[in-house]
Amino acid sequence: ESLTVQELAKKLHREPSEIIKKLFMLGVMATINQTLDKDAIELIAGEYGVEVEEEILVDLTDLESLVTDDAPENTIERPSVVTIMGHVDHGKTTLLDSIRNTKVTEGEAGGITQHIGAYQVEVSGKKITFLDTPGHAAFTTMRARGAQVTDITILVVAADDGVMPQTVEAINHAKAAEVPIIVAVNKMDKESANPDRVMQELTEHGLVSEAWGGDTIFVPISAKQGEGIDTLLEMVLLVGEVEEYKANPERRAVGTVIESRLDKGRGTVATLLVQNGTLKIGDPIVVGNSFGRVRAMVNDLGRRVKEAGPSTPVEITGLNEVPDAGDRFIVFEDEKTARQVGETRAQRQLVSSRNEKSVVTLDNLFEQMKQGEIKELNIVLKADVQGSAEAVAASLQKIEVEGAKVKIIHSGVGAISESDIILASASNAIVIGFNVRPDVNAKRAAEAENVDVRLHRIIYKAIEEIEAAMKGMLDPEF
Ligand code: GDP
Repeated sequence: ESLTVQELAKKLHREPSEIIKKLFMLGVMATINQTLDKDAIELIAGEYGVEVEEEILVDLTDLESLVTDDAPENTIERPSVVTIMGHVDHGKTTLLDSIRNTKVTEGEAGGITQHIGAYQVEVSGKKITFLDTPGHAAFTTMRARGAQVTDITILVVAADDGVMPQTVEAINHAKAAEVPIIVAVNKMDKESANPDRVMQELTEHGLVSEAWGGDTIFVPISAKQGEGIDTLLEMVLLVGEVEEYKANPERRAVGTVIESRLDKGRGTVATLLVQNGTLKIGDPIVVGNSFGRVRAMVNDLGRRVKEAGPSTPVEITGLNEVPDAGDRFIVFEDEKTARQVGETRAQRQLVSSRNEKSVVTLDNLFEQMKQGEIKELNIVLKADVQGSAEAVAASLQKIEVEGAKVKIIHSGVGAISESDIILASASNAIVIGFNVRPDVNAKRAAEAENVDVRLHRIIYKAIEEIEAAMKGMLDPEF
């Protein structure tokens, strides 16, 4: 990473002249537009204290520049990353399965496919990466965090059903992200299939097929019977060739979290999509607000691998905490820096989440519930000590199930009291007790008010339970 004197001054909130003076004192003659190397930057940052130095290092939002900033001669072609979108029941899952079944096993005899959130297939000697969480929830969540992982969208439209509300949503998401769309007209095996109607309807949304003088690729398929899949994949390769997706496998890896969870045996498990560089075992890494060393890596066939190049998804262990889907990751040169950056980021998040907590009143809670735009699971949390209350709250707040989140409306230390129950009841919350129990009055109140009280002694059990509950509380997709 390099900065000019002017850029560094801006990051440090100082005048460039001051930086030039400092450099001069350190024996370096510099002008305002001069580019400084890493050592010089660290030296100057050090002059302003460790905090300032960290400030520069923690800015992971600069990832996009890292992803694209390679000299052309250092880059090579990388596999396209594809997301499948479309209306519910139009065949996204069937298509993902069909692609995987027909292609993954061919060259990889004996591989046992493993769901890690993404997989790779090989077509005509080239690889394609598929994100296998269908629908645009994942796509949108990641975009909301500023992470763009998708290169190409396959829009699945059932030929017997035509363009539906989520088809239009998907088109809008892809367009907003400026991601090329390939239309897969699915269920062509059905009697009632009417591909012309699909083409007609999509014209109204700016997707005009090549046959009709436009530039959108349409491929008729039957995901169920495996028909047209080869052509579809050839078209993905074609678009990839035209768009020329490239990366530099020689650099330290950067990329995005696809999925993450806490595993009983293995600890924190995260699927990372390497977007540039090569990720290796032992790499010191910062992932969102967590950090660690890459302990083990497993690919989509369940095999242990030692490295993962551009566009490759791998499941890793070795992080101190569970990151969020859409979080970016960067490999650092040494473990000390990774730790420093990770800890600073976690600290910041803790501070900002504390500040976000608004005063809880029964009135505003009711309002918030009524709005119901953002689905939230409200929780009243009690724990034996402040430290565990904070730890549990931090983990709970990371939960996200298809856009729905947890909201800790109240957390405190000590036994669960009657007022905790009343608060929970009034705000349609559940109560979690961590190493504490309800007192007699609270028990009675909970029964009377039908408040769900859950007692736990292990953090991940609490998390698992909440996640399961959240899956159940969501409205069914239409
Ligand atoms: P998703 O909600 O978009 O993931 O859709 P699914 O993949 O779950 O498919 C919905 C239903 O459509 C299932 O019953 C599938 O078996 C069926 N389906 C998917 N693709 C085809 C196809 O090509 N032909 C026919 N006849 N049915 C299909």
